[in-house]
Amino acid sequence: MLLREVEYARPASIPEALRLLAAHDGARALAGGQTLINVMKARAASPDVLVDLSDLQELRGIELSQDGTVEIGAMTTYADIIDSAEARARPILGEVCAQIADVQVRNRGTIGGNVCSNDPTNHLPPVLVATGATMTIAGQNSERAVPAEEFFLGVYMTAAGPGELLTKISFPPGKQDGFASVAIGADGTCIVNAAASLDGGSLRVAIGCVAAVPVVVRPESADPDAVKTAVRGAELDPPSDVHASADYRCHLAEVLAARAVEQAGRGS
Ligand SMILES: Cc1cc2nc3c(=O)[nH]c(=O)nc-3n(C[C@H](O)[C@H](O)[C@H](O)COP(=O)(O)OP(=O)(O)OC[C@H]3O[C@@H](n4cnc5c(N)ncnc54)[C@H](O)[C@@H]3O)c2cc1C
Repeated sequence: MLLREVEYARPASIPEALRLLAAHDGARALAGGQTLINVMKARAASPDVLVDLSDLQELRGIELSQDGTVEIGAMTTYADIIDSAEARARPILGEVCAQIADVQVRNRGTIGGNVCSNDPTNHLPPVLVATGATMTIAGQNSERAVPAEEFFLGVYMTAAGPGELLTKISFPPGKQDGFASVAIGADGTCIVNAAASLDGGSLRVAIGCVAAVPVVVRPESADPDAVKTAVRGAELDPPSDVHASADYRCHLAEVLAARAVEQAGRGS
């Protein structure tokens, strides 16, 4: 038997899902299962109840407002984002989703699951932070909007707490974004990644894989030397592991931030 015995629920509405999550301390939302099922198989997590969000159509879909805001439901898959004409209003989203893993993972994995797992090597957390996305979190009797910069709290920890659901993510209008990464092999997870966004004169860079949450840097200009100086000023303290030493990760952070900013300057 691969998995420990676990109760399974497939609610038909968001209120029912929230009720189930609140009723059981050991309940966990199940989105695409591409992280959760694997950590359950490895016995690194053992929820008592899986609350499968698959039937909640309200959590799927991509909407483009007249002002250029892109709103994406938490259960929207990477494949849906890649194929969506609406998501192309913020082209970096489809571009980065297309770099995640392989076709199977992109068909099942969801934007909500990617950011709620907050694996520091995932592709999307730095993108959401750099683009200034807003996360909508629903509880049984409440709903709140949280800026992406405040959503990521620690490794596998986010502002969506027990009994809550991330329902959607809103991206403000903008096309001047960039993303660069060095990954373990062609489809592999990132060793370091960086996302950049230019909004008018303001430049924001978010660096992933170097800390528990994306590190935000605001270079004074888009000049590569200014970007690298700003990254150095952040005094990163990344881990060393079998894939890269801490020094090499610091070096990659500077180079990748400069590349992401260069792409943002060109416009996606
Ligand atoms: C072989 C392989 C390679 C991969 N490579 C990469 C990679 O290179 N880059 C990358 O970014 N990712 C990678 N991943 C991870 C993949 O992107 C996952 O899809 C993603 O991390 C989780 O999304 P999911 O929809 O599968 O969520 P799940 O696995 O179902 O859930 C993940 C976590 O989020 C919680 N959750 C999910 N949705 C919500 C919600 N709406 N509200 C509150 N909590 C929620 C769950 O309870 C769980 O704790 C890889 C996965 C595999 C299997």
